[in-house]
Amino acid sequence: MRYINKKFTIEKISIENIAKKFGTPFYCYSYYQLKKNIINFKSKFKSFSPLICFAIKSNTNVNLIKEIKKFGLGADVVSMGELMIALKAGINPKKIVFSGVGKTSKEISFAIDKNILLINAESKSEIQEIHRISKLKNKKIQIGIRLNPNTDAKTLKQISTGKEENKFGVNEKTFLELINYCKISKNLQLKCLSVHIGSQILDNKPYKKMLKIIDKIIDKVDHKFEFIDLGGGMGISYNQKDKKLNYNEYCKEIKKFLKKHKSKIIFEPGRSIIGNTGVLVSKIIYIKKNKRKSFVILDAAMNDFMRPALYGASHRTLPSERKKNKSRKSYEFVGPICESTDKFISLKNFQELKEKDLIAICDVGAYGMSLSSNYNMRPKLPELLIKGSNIKVIRKRQKLKDLL
Ligand SMILES: *Cc1c(COP(=O)(O)O)cnc(C)c1O
Repeated sequence: MRYINKKFTIEKISIENIAKKFGTPFYCYSYYQLKKNIINFKSKFKSFSPLICFAIKSNTNVNLIKEIKKFGLGADVVSMGELMIALKAGINPKKIVFSGVGKTSKEISFAIDKNILLINAESKSEIQEIHRISKLKNKKIQIGIRLNPNTDAKTLKQISTGKEENKFGVNEKTFLELINYCKISKNLQLKCLSVHIGSQILDNKPYKKMLKIIDKIIDKVDHKFEFIDLGGGMGISYNQKDKKLNYNEYCKEIKKFLKKHKSKIIFEPGRSIIGNTGVLVSKIIYIKKNKRKSFVILDAAMNDFMRPALYGASHRTLPSERKKNKSRKSYEFVGPICESTDKFISLKNFQELKEKDLIAICDVGAYGMSLSSNYNMRPKLPELLIKGSNIKVIRKRQKLKDLL
């Protein structure tokens, strides 16, 4: 994605031309960027060839998952619906892991029937339930236990998951008890220790600390884990000043860990695979000035893209056409929804805009469309996949008729 002749262009098509054909607002993704991200991710860890399970919750478009599957990735799912969409995309069940604190009996039963690689349990009650269901089905089930390493991921507090006060995983004491519980069970095979300390992590230290804690626990127990699932959370650069996660350093730490504890590493990346592949294109409906500021009222809103309202996240917001000589202005970019949090970003020194201009909100591939809703009776947006000069509609715009 870049400006060609001053026009914001995805692969070989300007967003202006896409908008002419499909209307606004819409999500579009670059196939080339997706491919590049997957190849890069794999190459960073190729020395121990991990199983890479794409976190479906970051983007649930079946056509994108199909593309991701072609590179051999598996899936990390957190609900029956996600498990179904991963299977529909053709992902091998033996590459699927199921995470989440509240899997229902129905979900556990479905996962068992589909013979997925691992159910990563997050409590004693859940393990007892998996045991009960697998006994009923007279099956041996491979499970993991998610450890809460009480490690601060140093990210936004809303997307931090590895601290004691978070609902995720079990603490060390419970973890040790549960190992013994699994040993007695004839239906449970404890294959995996899993962790996931949070999302949008840019600092290596939390990962390093997390590995140290896992190392210590494994030293304490008499159990061989075939898999160590390190979760996802690798951050991306939303803004130029964001620092970059040092993958080499993380890889080195993992290799050190593997020398001591031979096992297969699993990753569950979402954002780092799909985040920077997507752009949300929106048209300015009105520009409204008051004494203090100018509101740019877009045709996209918080229901279409929720990260700013939900987490206070800020995303690069750019004009579809760069104009050098225009004067610079301060703008607050908002949507039409009846909520004051329906605001994308405030920017100073932006090129002067006019009504009907197009705006691109960048890096929305992860937790963009998948977090969208029909709030205010607004139909869901279409998704387009760009490959060179080819545009493929990978999700149609929802019709108002369907909402009615
Ligand atoms: C959300 C989630 C992920 C993916 O996180 P990213 O930050 O998108 O990489 C991985 N594993 C689990 C258990 C999750 O809940």
